[in-house]
Amino acid sequence: DSGGGKDTCVQVALRIRPQGNREKLEGSRVCTSVLPNDPQVTIGGDRSFTYDHVFDQPTPQHVVYESCVEQLVDGLFDGFNATVLAYGQTGSGKTHTMGTAFDTAVVQNEQDLGVIPRAIHHTFRKIVDLKAQALEKGILEPSFDVSVQFVELYNDDVLDLLSDDRNSSANIRIHEDNRGEIALHGVEQRSVIDLDGTMEILKNGALNRTVASTNMNEQSSRSHAIFTLHLKQQRVVPSLLEDVVEGKTGDLEMEMLTAKFHFVDLAGSERMKRTGATGERAREGISINVGLLALGNVIAALGGANGKVSHVPYRDSKLTRLLQDSLGGNSRTLMIACCSPSDSDFVETLNTMKYANRAKEI
Ligand code: ADP
Ligand code: MG
Repeated sequence: DSGGGKDTCVQVALRIRPQGNREKLEGSRVCTSVLPNDPQVTIGGDRSFTYDHVFDQPTPQHVVYESCVEQLVDGLFDGFNATVLAYGQTGSGKTHTMGTAFDTAVVQNEQDLGVIPRAIHHTFRKIVDLKAQALEKGILEPSFDVSVQFVELYNDDVLDLLSDDRNSSANIRIHEDNRGEIALHGVEQRSVIDLDGTMEILKNGALNRTVASTNMNEQSSRSHAIFTLHLKQQRVVPSLLEDVVEGKTGDLEMEMLTAKFHFVDLAGSERMKRTGATGERAREGISINVGLLALGNVIAALGGANGKVSHVPYRDSKLTRLLQDSLGGNSRTLMIACCSPSDSDFVETLNTMKYANRAKEI
């Protein structure tokens, strides 16, 4: 890690999953190569791309989390919104990376936990630590309010994965207040107080998505799933705290901070003709492409916005509209572009690398 891009608001990581047994049996060759300690990948022997991070096949989950997600959770406690986007073709490792593959028969052990469970764990541990620190310093304890939402964007409809009522989507609206903050109205927002309770909600929501997919044409590969962690915090203003410690002033002022973290498992990026879509399915495919297309444009505009902010086309899709206040501005965005190492996926992998590359062009 060069560390050079730490302060930019968009970071891009590429993650190459290991070959599956089937690919090995079919004799697929590995067409990607990565040099150690260099965030650069070469595909097909001659095309190279550089990102903020490149995670090659054997990279464990905790390395991905610690090198680029943990700092975003820390930022949440200072009021910065954050977004992690998992991009890539179906089967490239998006859901595995996010940590919501609860439907697999294999029971997950701790080292397999993905980004979301680790972020939840870190959030609750940090709350305990911050309270303990306040107690140690003899100042007022900060108070925290954590809540979560989990929705799916499908065919430009917002579905609430935490609601039993699968028809609730008709009442869901994306609302922007006069400070530019985006909220989803009509979606359940569950208060949570610990890791286990939050994991239970995450799991149920993720399974809701999977259940629907069996009778809706592999919905999960055509929809975006967005898990959102909201953090509300009341604390002593940290800068004033130093003054008090140094005996300069006796007044402590409280501040209220709110921030949210969107974890987005994007729809499969594969192009439609590969799935032979026609009729209803074609409409679905086109709708999803609008979201990914708009997202690419928004991120490219943000990546190039160092100093000179160009027009950012948030309104071109529901996906970007929903993420509007958490992409750009004071918020931090990480795109994890997931791909297969196999030559049988060469075309899609190259497309993913190009898409990810747009996000960091300046
Ligand atoms: P997607 O969500 O992009 O469709 P998945 O996350 O479901 O892809 O991954 C497809 C398959 O590859 C799953 O069986 C998953 O367990 C496996 N897989 C993906 N990434 C990894 C990884 N980094 N290490 C081990 N297995 C992985
Ligand atoms: Mg998936």
